[in-house]
Amino acid sequence: MKNPSYCIVTFGCAANEADSERIASLYQNRGFIQVSDANQADELIINTCMIRESAENRVYGLINNLKKDRQKGRKIRIVVTGCMVGLMVKDKSGKLMRAFRQKMPEVDEFLPIEEVGFSIAPIRSGYKNALVPISNGCNNYCSYCVVPYTRGAEISRPYKEILNECRELIKKGYTEITLIGQNVNSYGADFFIKKGKESAKQEVTYVKHLGKYRIPTLFPQLLKEISGLKGLEKVDFISSNPWDFSEDLIRVIADNQIITRTIHLPLQSGDNDVLKKMNRWYTREEYLDLISKLKTQIPKVSISTDIIVGFCGESDEQFENTVKLCKIVGFSKAYISIYSDRPATQAHKIFKDDIPFVVKKYRWNILEKMINKPNLKHK
Ligand code: SF4
Repeated sequence: MKNPSYCIVTFGCAANEADSERIASLYQNRGFIQVSDANQADELIINTCMIRESAENRVYGLINNLKKDRQKGRKIRIVVTGCMVGLMVKDKSGKLMRAFRQKMPEVDEFLPIEEVGFSIAPIRSGYKNALVPISNGCNNYCSYCVVPYTRGAEISRPYKEILNECRELIKKGYTEITLIGQNVNSYGADFFIKKGKESAKQEVTYVKHLGKYRIPTLFPQLLKEISGLKGLEKVDFISSNPWDFSEDLIRVIADNQIITRTIHLPLQSGDNDVLKKMNRWYTREEYLDLISKLKTQIPKVSISTDIIVGFCGESDEQFENTVKLCKIVGFSKAYISIYSDRPATQAHKIFKDDIPFVVKKYRWNILEKMINKPNLKHK
């Protein structure tokens, strides 16, 4: 009898890509064979992203096409996993579960990513560069972001487990490692807080950095140890947050040549009032100060970023502040998003998504041309 086949369609970030590599392993262990063409698969796994409405709509579009295939007689099992399922299972009221089931009645299984876990060995899509998850989830609750509700609170992987995975990868011939997590530089902070024990919380020493009280994290140490492993040529990490970008971390990067010289540091807005509404507790001045430290201490560093345009109530003047900040920094690349209202978030509950789409698109174009396509200005 022929083995059944599966195909994984992945939306979203590197964390989803890494999750898909472990899902692939789950299917191979069950005797399935991977195919790259979704039209040839007996089972299609859709790893979803909810960061923007457009990503969510692409999932509905795909499922709608599969529904049409089924009407023409195709037999296919549809499995949905990733952020949508994360949000559904964490909603204790069951409302979202019912809403998603109603929206996607064709889906045969909703697979929570927690059921796949970290312990399963991934089937890697690359042969030189490997993605190594070091943490999952986020505790920062930026007001526009659905991730803390889809992936839950931040949980760091055990230190030794990460190091062992890196050593195994080197033995297999991998020379480049990308450490991934929603906030890699918060790595290990959760080890110091035992859930539910207030007394344990008090034993922790907090430091104030860019407006937030933070627990000094283990990321600088982990990065230093990994970059010291023999056989590695490059160590990258994504994504980091401004709050936990400590002096220690800058020093570790500066001292280790194999660590990336392209630092991704999400800005989101260059205006202090917008940043506050976004619940991002740094000011434009503090962000610029951090950039200046990076540029001074790490020769040839380049900085990429994430920016949201058209956040609730963003005025022309506030947007101009973002433009001005971008000019000062000179980002090498920016992932610019048009703000879209996401369920469950604080912005969804408190603010009005009141910037017309044409204005959002206009602002997006300005930044896109300025940062990502500067040559277009001269055409
Ligand atoms: S730091 Fe903010 S934007 Fe990033 S995942 Fe957490 S809540 Fe979302």
